[in-house]
Formats: sequence, C-alpha cells, structure tokens
Amino acid sequence: MNIGENLRMIEERVQESLIKSDSPKRQIDIIAVTKTIAVDQIQQAVNLGVRNVGENKVQEMVEKYHQIDGLVNWHMIGHLQRNKVKYIVDKVSLIHSVDSLPLMEEISLRALKVGRQIDCLIQVNVSGEVSKFGIEPIELEDLIKRSEQLSGIRVKGLMTMAPYDDNPEKARPYFKRLSELFQLTKEKRLSSVEMEVLSMGMSNDFEVAVQEGATMVRIGSALFGSRNYA
Ligand SMILES: *Cc1c(COP(=O)(O)O)cnc(C)c1O
Repeated sequence: MNIGENLRMIEERVQESLIKSDSPKRQIDIIAVTKTIAVDQIQQAVNLGVRNVGENKVQEMVEKYHQIDGLVNWHMIGHLQRNKVKYIVDKVSLIHSVDSLPLMEEISLRALKVGRQIDCLIQVNVSGEVSKFGIEPIELEDLIKRSEQLSGIRVKGLMTMAPYDDNPEKARPYFKRLSELFQLTKEKRLSSVEMEVLSMGMSNDFEVAVQEGATMVRIGSALFGSRNYA
C-alpha cells in the first residue's frame, strides 16, 4: 500500500480520461475520501500534496479536522442531518450532499451566524435507485431558485453517486444525465448561481465520470486501499 504511488496513478488516469472528454483543458480536483481511514494515513496524503479531503459523517470530520496539520479543504460528501449542520459550519469548504430545502435553510442560517457563505452542491438522484439520497431531477430548478433567497449559501454545482457496478460503463448514462442537467442549469444563468462544480466519479468509475464532464472526483479505496469497517 503506497499512497504516493496510488495518487500518481490516479492523477495519470484522470489526465488520460480528460483527453477523451469534450473539454480536455479543464481542471479536475481530486477529493481524497478519508472515511474510516486513520489520521496518520490522511496526514501522509496531505504531506504528499492532497488538498481536498472528504468525509461522510459529521462526527468523524470534526474529530479529524482537529488532528490534521496543513492547508486542507474539508468536504462533506455524505447525507447531512439538519441538527448536525452546526458542528461543521465553521470547518467545511464545500457540502456536496444538499438534498432538501429545509437542509439548505439550516445551512444558510448557521452560516450567517458565523459570518460565512457556504458553497454547496445539490445531490441529484439520476439513477432513480430508491436507496440513494438526492433530489429528483425534476425538483432541481425549484430548489436552485429557492437558494437565491438564502444569503448564507451559494450553490456551485451538482453531485451524484452512480449505483455500484463492477463494470464502470454502467455508470455512463447517469453521468451523462447529470452533465446535461448541469449544462442546462448553467445556461439558465440564475442570478446567484455560478454552476462550476460537477462532483461525480468514485474509485471504480471516475474515469468514465471525467470523460463525461466531472470537475471533481471523490476517491477513497483507490488511494488508501479497501476500507475496514471495524
Ligand atoms: C465512500 C464514498 C466515496 C469514495 O468511494 P471509493 O469507492 O472508496 O472511492 C465517494 N463518494 C461518497 C459520497 C462516498 O460516500
């Protein structure tokens, strides 16, 4: 297990996939997904140049936040309960998993209390899989319009998770769909919304996601090895 080698490999694969996409010059941010990963391993990744770290649980993010040294942006990528927003509001750089108006309102309220405006992505369930979080595509426009009234948040883009499949090609239609939604929303030029971030792709399907327009990929096991849920 060599985190440095894995990181180089992932960066290489991202670049190769970029060349096969419609906008090969764009910047791709790699979010190192650190759930269940020990602090010393995360620190190792940070020392190797990782600048973006993603956690899916509030408590785990808060604990690790205080233990990692260096300039790191913290990303909340997991389902977020309203009553836990207050714990991360002063720590998080980007919330990928906004999936309701009440959650958006709570984030905005808490952000204003600490004098911040928090960047958010709206999680869209493009696969229709019942077990997945995220809004339905049809709800997107209304939610974005409502976000314009909330001065504590700024919607920066969209996020999705494709259903897991050993064959990454199975994820392509879902990434294509999210990419289309992203473009459509961008073209509408809603006043407070700057659509810049398309967060899609994980260890097994990030190459397909980059080919389809992702600007952020969320990578855990390909970087740190398989997780041990003890
Ligand atoms: C765990 C997780 C990832 C990373 O998964 P890997 O398959 O380990 O790369 C990405 N996004 C979300 C929302 C996750 O919960």
